[in-house]
Amino acid sequence: MIRPFDKPIYVARPALPSLEEFRCGLEGIWDRAWLTNNGPLVEQFRDNLITFCGTKNLSLFVNGTLALQIALQGMGITGDVITTPYTFVATTHSLFWNKIRPVFVDIEPDYYSLDPAQVEAAITPWTSAILAVHVYGQPCYLENLERIARKHGLKLLYDAAHAFGVEVNGTSIAHFGDLSMFSFHATKIFHSIEGGMLTFRDPEYRRLFDYLKNFGFENETEVVMPGTNAKMNEFQALMGLLLLRRMDEMIERRRAINERYRERLALIPGIRLVSPPAETVRYNYAYMPVEVEQDEFGLTRDQLYLKLREFNVFARRYFYPLVPDYACYRGLVASGNLPVARRAASRVLTLPIYSDLALDDVDRICDIIGDIASRSCKWALAASQSGQADSVLALTDTQL
Ligand SMILES: *Cc1c(COP(=O)(O)O)cnc(C)c1O
Repeated sequence: MIRPFDKPIYVARPALPSLEEFRCGLEGIWDRAWLTNNGPLVEQFRDNLITFCGTKNLSLFVNGTLALQIALQGMGITGDVITTPYTFVATTHSLFWNKIRPVFVDIEPDYYSLDPAQVEAAITPWTSAILAVHVYGQPCYLENLERIARKHGLKLLYDAAHAFGVEVNGTSIAHFGDLSMFSFHATKIFHSIEGGMLTFRDPEYRRLFDYLKNFGFENETEVVMPGTNAKMNEFQALMGLLLLRRMDEMIERRRAINERYRERLALIPGIRLVSPPAETVRYNYAYMPVEVEQDEFGLTRDQLYLKLREFNVFARRYFYPLVPDYACYRGLVASGNLPVARRAASRVLTLPIYSDLALDDVDRICDIIGDIASRSCKWALAASQSGQADSVLALTDTQL
């Protein structure tokens, strides 16, 4: 009998620099008494990110959602945008805040990103852009989407919130499409407490985004456009600067965790591992998704999710429900058949992964899943005999 973890294991845990390093940086902020409005740490963070991403066309924001909203507005995108239902709600919200109509098309089953064939089939005279998501940090089908966008004269934007640190053929993922948005939220692979970044092809966007995130100010007396407030502050930049140095180490730790999960979970019937990254991809191991095959595993994804909580393991159902199924979008948007996305939303469970997660804890999580699997037939049987299939989770071990 495997015991639950003493403390909860969450799906993510923010990386932190040493408190000493952070305190040292705070002293500088105190000395300067310059807290926001493009201070020296934000400038330095931007410079270091330019080196990291290999592009000067880069702008920092207070968070990823406002960065994406501003991108859509600055680029003048209107009408319909083809996008994915299998994402975090902020992708779609950013369209709505710009009065753009999202057109949801289905995803492909390998990496859960937009299916290029479905994208092309959904293009109409009202389509102005494609907004794709590098789900779990795995790159979309970049070449196909690029070809479709060029052929039809559409803008191509990537929600790269999961994909910081990813490279394709040695090039940063920040270089694809017309624009990419990265999130530096505390739960992401890399963070600045909250934070966001845009990288873009057209260098002209830089000035535009600078206006839009700072009320449209040109100088003390001139306002050139109705902007908003979405500036990154010095505390965020300090956190980002200290963590950026550790990026390689953090990805390596995650790679080892991912490898251990893969070795161990491959032995459990009914747990399907997601396709490994393509040869050309330097992956960031941002998430650890698996699919639960109910017939083989003996429990549904939701049952496993709830069972794990009893062991103090807090996996997450990213992404469930699909965005068009949220109350605020239901009925408002045409979403058609989305069989691949629906299948993924009902089967995928993302397991805990963060750079400080011990390999022993990964082993224990896998032992727990194995243990649940080996006893799931008994639970399912007991539930069906009592005529209460849904109450299977209410049964305690002593009842069995
Ligand atoms: C986290 C996330 C966002 C939002 O980023 P914030 O920095 O939290 O505003 C947008 N899209 C996806 C896919 C995300 O995971």
